[in-house]
Amino acid sequence: MPYTEIFTKADVAFVRYKKLPASSKAELLRTIAEEIEQLGDELLETAHQESNLPLARLTGERGRTVGQLRLFASLVEEGSWLEATIDTAIPDRTPIPRPDLRRMLIPLGPVVVFGASNFPLAFSTAGGDTASALAAGCPVIYKEHPAHPKTSLLVYGAIQKALQRCELPEGIFQHVSGGADVGQQLAQHPQAKAVAFTGSFKAGKAIFDLACQRPVPIPVFAEMGSVNPIFVLPEKAAGNGALLAGLAAQSVLLGVGQFCTCPGLVFYPASEADHTFLETFAEKLRDAPAEKMLHETICSNYYQNLKGLRTHEGVEMILAPAEDLLTGGAALAKTTAQQWLQHPTLQEEVFGPYAMVVTYENQEELEQVARKLQGQLTCTLWGTDQELQKSEKLVDLLRERCGRLLFSGVPTGVEVSHAMTHGGPFPATTDSRSTSVGTYAIKRFARPVTFQSSPQELLPVELKDENPQQIWRTVNGQLTKDSI
Ligand code: NAP
Repeated sequence: MPYTEIFTKADVAFVRYKKLPASSKAELLRTIAEEIEQLGDELLETAHQESNLPLARLTGERGRTVGQLRLFASLVEEGSWLEATIDTAIPDRTPIPRPDLRRMLIPLGPVVVFGASNFPLAFSTAGGDTASALAAGCPVIYKEHPAHPKTSLLVYGAIQKALQRCELPEGIFQHVSGGADVGQQLAQHPQAKAVAFTGSFKAGKAIFDLACQRPVPIPVFAEMGSVNPIFVLPEKAAGNGALLAGLAAQSVLLGVGQFCTCPGLVFYPASEADHTFLETFAEKLRDAPAEKMLHETICSNYYQNLKGLRTHEGVEMILAPAEDLLTGGAALAKTTAQQWLQHPTLQEEVFGPYAMVVTYENQEELEQVARKLQGQLTCTLWGTDQELQKSEKLVDLLRERCGRLLFSGVPTGVEVSHAMTHGGPFPATTDSRSTSVGTYAIKRFARPVTFQSSPQELLPVELKDENPQQIWRTVNGQLTKDSI
């Protein structure tokens, strides 16, 4: 079986790593952050050469990467993520006594992480998936994204140095290069316990299907992007066409449209879809300097998708850029809600600086659209205060269909924090119960276990009576840091 040596090394490392105190895991995460910073400009320049992303953007992305490693370090030290829960015994309960029950989350074991093409730092080698898996106590087997191998190796070197500095086994993080076949073999390996992925629907779903077909299926947390619709209500639209168009265009253009949160659909009231909104939208997109996309395949996929839209029934291309090998010119299309409802293909992501404006006639039609909408990472609702207060039905529909519901601003720009959800119902992800950004991402790599009537000496430190780490625990239904 290929890669058995790698998984065995990870398993051996797991035996030690899972038992390390929280402070040691936190130290590792902080040391990785330090070592990434030590790479200096070489890392940024290499990532720039491999991804075409501007240095300023990559500098921000590096900040995000080290910031999230440090955030997970604090989370691990704080300890409440373990959900330590204790029901003390009631020996004299009738008709039967209650045993002593103590539950907490424990790490799954070695996990496979796929790097993403569009975030060579923050969603790749030491990105959010790796940080959350290491924080949970899981060794990582990392499958590099072939679009940025040198960047990946530099960060791998930083992680190796951090492991040496912390005197921890190198099996805690291993790096594997190769194509789709390699990723498939890793996901199918009997010693793999979970998979984290960011990329296309096609690849994410293929990996998910493989994992389900294994003799022992494992969870696959695949984030596969979405079209992130913006719903504009009529009163908000009235007189604000230029402003709203500018806001939407800015979001579409960010990162040459190569964000999984790029707003690819804007539902706009037909009564207000006057020249101002559409013309400003097209103008802002047209005037923006076309930039290089991540790589040629992504660029050719983009133009291929636009070509399909040009001849699509009921779709009018308002702005159609000339095809290029690497440069992604912005594009804008228009259709009606009735056409959109009839053609499910119009829900598919066009990865690049593109959006479609869908005009709707009334609230009923908008709700019809919302009902038809497939799972999204984000949905955005722009309305006046009064309109929003009357939109409970629409809000109820939208919250069932996304991982993050915005009432202001744009979906691009995903905060790394405790309350963030970067996930959503299928097909945005393969598991709507999870997020791949923010501290809640750690839950993907842990499972609950209950110790019943266990001697104190055999309990994990977090579940012992005296609570030496002073973590928050739920004891007999009450949240407390008290000892028992
Ligand atoms: P991708 O094709 O999904 O590839 C991501 C990773 O999965 C790569 O390591 C790739 O390896 C591997 N892979 C591809 N097909 C596979 C399969 N059948 N089984 C196992 N592994 C497989 O994504 P990409 O290269 O970044 O970009 C292609 C398209 O993905 C874009 O045009 C865009 O539509 C979409 N995308 C979406 C997001 C998002 O929003 N979530 C982010 C980035 C890209 P190989 O490259 O060696 O095949």
